[in-house]
Amino acid sequence: MKRVLCVMLLCALLCGCAREQPGRGQTLFCMNTFMDMTFWGSDADAAAEDLTAIFTELERTWSVTRGDSCLYTGNFTAEQQVLLDRAEQLRLRTGGAFDPRLRSLSTLWGFYNAQNQEPDFTLPTQTQIEQALADPRWDLGGILKGYAGELAVQALEALNIDRAILNLGGNVQTYGEKPDGTPWNIAIQSPDGGGHLGVVSVMGTMSVVTSGDYQRYFEKDGVRYHHILDPETGSPAASGLRSVTVICQNGTTADALSTALFVMGLDKGVELWRQSDDFEAVFVLADGRICATQGAALSGCEYEVIGREN
Ligand code: AMP
Ligand code: MG
Repeated sequence: MKRVLCVMLLCALLCGCAREQPGRGQTLFCMNTFMDMTFWGSDADAAAEDLTAIFTELERTWSVTRGDSCLYTGNFTAEQQVLLDRAEQLRLRTGGAFDPRLRSLSTLWGFYNAQNQEPDFTLPTQTQIEQALADPRWDLGGILKGYAGELAVQALEALNIDRAILNLGGNVQTYGEKPDGTPWNIAIQSPDGGGHLGVVSVMGTMSVVTSGDYQRYFEKDGVRYHHILDPETGSPAASGLRSVTVICQNGTTADALSTALFVMGLDKGVELWRQSDDFEAVFVLADGRICATQGAALSGCEYEVIGREN
């Protein structure tokens, strides 16, 4: 392995580090968001085709608005059941902050609308919230794009693809190393719009997932109601955060954790990080501060580093 790397490095040096070739791009609208993908490698066309098919099928299978999705038929294949079991494990891991059974609640708030239909946001009463919480129904919206990234990596491994970067609407999945050995640089969006507030650098295949209060919301009487719900209160999580970015090798885990940490807030989120060794996180606080765990390679902004010890 080492020798292969040396040969590759030598080739790069001999070639005078030729400018990076543009990759094969592909854009699609899926899971309510634009997905931008770029592939490098001789199977780039096949990769674009395969991933488009995988994501489209994933959306259809787990749709919360289509009557023929497995969520409504209740017939789960073995593979689908594995994903449900994993979602349940992630719920337990996050002390219930990630809860994959909030469909009744999200529907009540009006966060679900069929494609091409305007959302119908409402402010529910406490009684309605309690009824929805007492009616748990699966909704994998909190992990589906991350899972899409995970499936994408598996599909790319079976193809002749050197590297790829997939932006699945706030979920970024990188694949493979860049030929010049530099990291992938992923911008973290500013919660107030207007560009990015920092850059996270990762090497190789990695998932960088952000959950934020600016991604889907409505406003009423000057108050913002966003789509990440606190399973304890039944209302949009009010944990003092604007966004959380999680960096993790596994897309599904990254996606669940970003949602969960957003619900948990900084202190509990850091506690979970200290008990774990599989992710790093960047917290953007409502007061504008940015805090990043010590392994998160964040640049381009001022931030406080969170260490392993208290
Ligand atoms: P994300 O954008 O990945 O943070 O996920 C938000 C989506 O996950 C929402 O649109 C809902 O479908 C679902 N969701 C909302 N609140 C939660 C929660 N506390 N746990 C799990 N899924 C949630
Ligand atoms: Mg998520």
